Amino acid sequence: MHGLIRELAAKAPVITDGAWGTQLQARGLEVGACPDAWNLSHPGRVEEVARAYVEAGSQVILTNTFGANRFVLARCDLADRVAEINRSGVEISRRAADGRARVFASIGPTGILLAMGEHRPEDLRAAFAEQIRALAAAGVDALVLESFSDPAEILLALEAAKPSGLPLVACMTFDSGKGHNRTLMGTTPEQAAEQLTAAGADAIGSNCGRGIEGFVAITRRLHAATDRPLWIKPNAGLPEVIGGQTVYGQTAQQFAAVVPALVEAGASFVGGCCGTTPEFIAAIAKTLKP
Ligand SMILES: [Zn+2]
Repeated sequence: MHGLIRELAAKAPVITDGAWGTQLQARGLEVGACPDAWNLSHPGRVEEVARAYVEAGSQVILTNTFGANRFVLARCDLADRVAEINRSGVEISRRAADGRARVFASIGPTGILLAMGEHRPEDLRAAFAEQIRALAAAGVDALVLESFSDPAEILLALEAAKPSGLPLVACMTFDSGKGHNRTLMGTTPEQAAEQLTAAGADAIGSNCGRGIEGFVAITRRLHAATDRPLWIKPNAGLPEVIGGQTVYGQTAQQFAAVVPALVEAGASFVGGCCGTTPEFIAAIAKTLKP
């Protein structure tokens, strides 16, 4: 296990950050627009989000680079700006953290379904490698692979990340199947934990999908299947579309009330995904570190 993850996990629970996409939308990002492009066009607003999390008590914040791989950026005609967008993302979070929080890079999926056979695995691996080289060159502290559903894709991203020598956090989303406890591809928490551990992830986890209640059982199952620290970021309840807007129903207090159960189940790193805000992080900090 990488020294930084070991050092942080020894002081668990570690408070991470909350959602970025919904926070950028609150600052004017249009739904469907490319959030990562704001690292170049609106760096000040991105920095506001990062700073709000640090001030709320995040000990680790991410970067606004979830979709900064060439496949996702191609959809906004920015495939040739991978390096700049990732570098800027790290610089923005680093400025906001100002030594008060660690900066881990967000890396999301390509949106390509390998099983369709339209792209070769090596093309996806090369796209992740390109993004990771830029993040590593900008001096990020660790890499967080998040919101993955396909074990084949996250394993390619892990392979691409290995040469960086950075600590690796690997997270999947378990929101499918009858019990909403498998990934879209049918992977169980046990299968994910075993494969990601064998592939050398330093921490393993789950983010997005459902609200925090369902994450207690998922955390317990991951914990039983790996010796790695767990990184857990639930959504703020289930999304509802009201008047064309996606709304998350859970309050910061309701969310924070379940956080001790997550820690009890084995979570070392705790934060929030879609719909969570700096208020949620402040509520978690109040609950865990009063
Ligand atoms: Zn999410």
